[in-house]
Amino acid sequence: MSARLLTTFGVTVALLIAANSPRLSSDTTPGDSEAFLQAQLQPLRSLSGGDRQRVTDLLSRMTLKEKVGQMTQLEIGMITDGEGTALRINPEKLRKAINDYGVGSILNVKDVALTAQKWHEVVGAIRRAAMATRLKIPVIYGLDSVHGANYVAGATLFPQPLGMAATWDPELMRDASRIAALETRAMKIHWNFSPVLDVGRQPLWPRLYETFGEDSYLASVMGVATVRGYQGEHLRSPTSVVATLKHFVGYSFPTSGQDRTPAVIPEAMLREDFLPPFAAGVRAGALAVMVNSGAVNGIPGHANKWLLTDVLRRELRFDGVAVSDWEDIKKLVTMHHSEATEKDATRTAILAGIDMSMVPSDYSFSDLLVQLVNEGSVPMSRIDEAVHRILMMKMRVGLFQESADHMDMSAMVGSKANRDVALQASRESIVLAKNASSVLPLASSSRVLITGPTADSLPALNNGWTITWQGNRPELYPADRLTVRGALEKRLGAHAIYVAGAGYDKPIDIQAAAKAAAASDIVVLCLGEMAYAETPGNIDDLSLPDAQLRLADAVIATGKPVVLVMIEGRPRIIRPIADRVAGILIALNPGMEGGVAIGDVLMGDVNPSGRLPITYPRYPNALFTYDRKPLEAQDPQFEFGSGSSYTTFEYSGLAVANETTTFVRGIDASVTVRNTGKQAGTEVVQLYVSDRVPTHPVKRLKRFVRADLAPGEVREVKFHLTRDDLSYVGPHGLVAEAGTFTLLAGGLSKDVVVR
Ligand code: BGC
Repeated sequence: MSARLLTTFGVTVALLIAANSPRLSSDTTPGDSEAFLQAQLQPLRSLSGGDRQRVTDLLSRMTLKEKVGQMTQLEIGMITDGEGTALRINPEKLRKAINDYGVGSILNVKDVALTAQKWHEVVGAIRRAAMATRLKIPVIYGLDSVHGANYVAGATLFPQPLGMAATWDPELMRDASRIAALETRAMKIHWNFSPVLDVGRQPLWPRLYETFGEDSYLASVMGVATVRGYQGEHLRSPTSVVATLKHFVGYSFPTSGQDRTPAVIPEAMLREDFLPPFAAGVRAGALAVMVNSGAVNGIPGHANKWLLTDVLRRELRFDGVAVSDWEDIKKLVTMHHSEATEKDATRTAILAGIDMSMVPSDYSFSDLLVQLVNEGSVPMSRIDEAVHRILMMKMRVGLFQESADHMDMSAMVGSKANRDVALQASRESIVLAKNASSVLPLASSSRVLITGPTADSLPALNNGWTITWQGNRPELYPADRLTVRGALEKRLGAHAIYVAGAGYDKPIDIQAAAKAAAASDIVVLCLGEMAYAETPGNIDDLSLPDAQLRLADAVIATGKPVVLVMIEGRPRIIRPIADRVAGILIALNPGMEGGVAIGDVLMGDVNPSGRLPITYPRYPNALFTYDRKPLEAQDPQFEFGSGSSYTTFEYSGLAVANETTTFVRGIDASVTVRNTGKQAGTEVVQLYVSDRVPTHPVKRLKRFVRADLAPGEVREVKFHLTRDDLSYVGPHGLVAEAGTFTLLAGGLSKDVVVR
């Protein structure tokens, strides 16, 4: 895996990066994941000498208080009054933040998405205040645009990242990210706190849906696509924003499954599974990293100098800004109890490598850090290093150039063209997991009962980070977007009947649903989860609530065929019903266009092509990833990478150029895939490698290609694997061990001896 840049522990390997970059064989298939990845890894256009000089000059003229101000990030409530859309600038508060403290950055909303007009008012006032300061250093505004510009009224909203990963379509990911960047930047906001590159290997974790799933290669490819989409070729372009790789690192693997609780991750596992997407994101030029709120191996992320300095700076060669997460310096005292006072915590975090503190609701950080420097407990060189990075980020993103009346792009927010891309992404994200006796697509003459808690819910389709943080206020959602119910009613007219049946965890009218099922030809049963974000989304059990299972039992008992549609941010257990339903769609969180997309797949206007980016568990206590060890024989509900189509594909001829090869030469492999059905479809060709060592994963994903195939069409897909792809992280570093490797694709296997 090219993203695996870490060769030996404790050794700076950046110099090896260039030498180790995989050579792509000239006959690699277009659309190959690796070719895409490599093409995105060009460095950002560098700053001119004049711009660099300007940063150095500014730094030399700044007072300690001004420097610490730049390192301070406050939330919007620190400069405004009022909540939601009634928010307005408080000139006194603004003066204190910008003129007295010289804060470098402001973030967030007062829980509700704002209109372009409101954003321009707020950001414009901040800019004017900054231009009235001694050094006129602009303030950078930061926002979480995590599935589109979700805090901008009327923005285009895509599937959540887990759904985007289910598309296995990095080009589409890049396009979606370009749109998210444009719609954010149109608010005059330059900094996006996305992508989440935490690898989603703990399905209970309430932020699973924010990840690109359980595999570090898929997450690396999608992550790099996102960074390029946000930052573009040139950050100064009025359509770019700074990307933030978060949350560095290990946040996604809490032992308890609960948000912000400790993780235990052996170093080899950290390097094999969790670091590669961050390494790839850094190589793609991301200018910011946000730090893990939790603790890994007993050390809180914000106090971990080894991770924040030795690994992030020296090994990965990250030269951008490391920003804390929300209140996380204080939380070293209040949550982790690893520091006695906030002053100690501030010193520890800054010396560990934090450049900017998301304080965010008081001035304690600025006051304490000034004291610490004056007392000699934090060297000025560390402050200068942090401020240099912050000013460079502002310079790169064009903040020093932009005049207040820069062109207004807000008319492009939520445009038809942008929404079409979101609809395509929603369609591609839906996974057809079961289709017994071709129950799908539905016949347009069928009488269909639509039921279940997620059937008529825009919040369920979108999940958290939608208009509000929790995403759970349906009254704020656009009135013209269709739920699954709305989409099917539009298609089927009077043939579609809706009965709620059950809420998330309470029965509503289960008997009425059963009666309506008996009078219908088929039931579309929409189960899953309602919206949540972060800690409020903690659960103790992946099982579906009883009310949902009872509704399922009642409609299944009618004997009518049932199609189960799972709308959810993490895999809720469906074992009690999966064998008794005819069809299953795993829709994850397909976003604002998701109702239409699900309708299109159910009706057959779209041939599903999504593939699971996670292993779908069968039991709540058997949570394994696909790359488990051979002795961990498991029987998940659905495998990682699985998903079917309304057409059929046949694989043949998995072959290698040389059955015996060397690590230097690598492996050239090819496989042929044919659409053997009657309609066009897309197959995601996945290449896995097994090194047949009992203590190693049964297989690891190495490459993938989305292949669009007309009926009867045949395509030969070629892959080139390098030494890195054939290596693993052992207890003492990266190991390439000679022996037999098995390539796996589409049910075929082929052995290769590598010397
Ligand atoms: C989350 C971050 C987010 C930040 C700012 C935190 O609670 O952990 O992912 O970027 O808030 O909204």
